[in-house]
Amino acid sequence: MDMKTYAFPGIIEDDILQIGAGQIPYMRTAWFSGVMKENESMLLDAIGCQGGRVMFFTSSGTAAMESVVQNYVAAKGSAFIIDGGTFGHRWVQLCEYHGIEHESMQIPFAQDIDYSDLEERMRNYRPAVFLCQHHETSSGQLFDLKRISAICRKTGTSLVVDVISSFLAEQLDMNALGIDVAVTSTQKGLNLPPGAALVFLSENALKVDFRHNNYYLDFQDNLKNLERGQTPFSPATTIFMQINERMRRNLARGIDDVIDTTRQKALYFRELCARYGWEVPASNPANAITGFFVHRNSALLCSELQKHGIFIMPCGKPDFFRVSHMGADTCQDLDELASLISEIENRA
Ligand SMILES: *Cc1c(COP(=O)(O)O)cnc(C)c1O
Repeated sequence: MDMKTYAFPGIIEDDILQIGAGQIPYMRTAWFSGVMKENESMLLDAIGCQGGRVMFFTSSGTAAMESVVQNYVAAKGSAFIIDGGTFGHRWVQLCEYHGIEHESMQIPFAQDIDYSDLEERMRNYRPAVFLCQHHETSSGQLFDLKRISAICRKTGTSLVVDVISSFLAEQLDMNALGIDVAVTSTQKGLNLPPGAALVFLSENALKVDFRHNNYYLDFQDNLKNLERGQTPFSPATTIFMQINERMRRNLARGIDDVIDTTRQKALYFRELCARYGWEVPASNPANAITGFFVHRNSALLCSELQKHGIFIMPCGKPDFFRVSHMGADTCQDLDELASLISEIENRA
């Protein structure tokens, strides 16, 4: 049975998967350095971070978040955090774990930030760094980076954004928004196997005297190796080859087209949700996923779908499920998915 996955990273094209299925070329070579240098320049272009750098870690996205807390936030001092769900709360936990002075603002499930309240709290607290998600993937809510960026500019706060589930799914220009640091990973917008995470540092962020709290994820050491297109330790070679192919294709298509394809599928699926009566709670839904409530049989839903080779993502909330739009699925696939969910929902 053909697998149809609407969990991250979504359906991946066969020829991209095949890059990961062959023998592994040696990485301490001029060839691999060339691949990494090209990766870096394509990624910087795609996110509007000209003049900055991209560090490549063989890890999942959370290690990239942790590296930022240990190397960057620790060097700057205090942090203000948007605790908007599972992923926002991860910034809080990382700061607690590493003893970073911080304050956080809890955002109710699937709601937007009260930006005037935020501005007031920032004026009172005067943090060195602001930590948030662009898209809080646990609910599907997108936050307004233009408004956040304006508040950070007014209060002189360094802006750090987890763009793990918005990179290549939403318009994103680091330099225009004044984002100093952004993190992402391969299994979301890049639509590749999990296993590599990326940290984008703006020209401004590169001037910071980074702390040395993590041997493996040390910024200075990684940046030094990056100059010759290398990572300090063994990279997930084939994933970096897949990044190369993915980004070549994305840039050839145009980033706007990549974003628009995801957006069109999201809008299409939300029409299906309306037709079947499934509520989408996000007040400002992101393109990457649709989070929705079903009415019945939610305990059965994932396991019944799996019998058809289909994966969707449950969440901590009862009756709430998420469908990713990052993969290479079609509107016809979404028709079939929605009709099967409805059929399971209405079983006796
Ligand atoms: C997926 C995700 C992460 C990272 O999760 P990992 O499992 O460590 O890759 C972090 N933040 C957001 C917003 C995410 O969607």
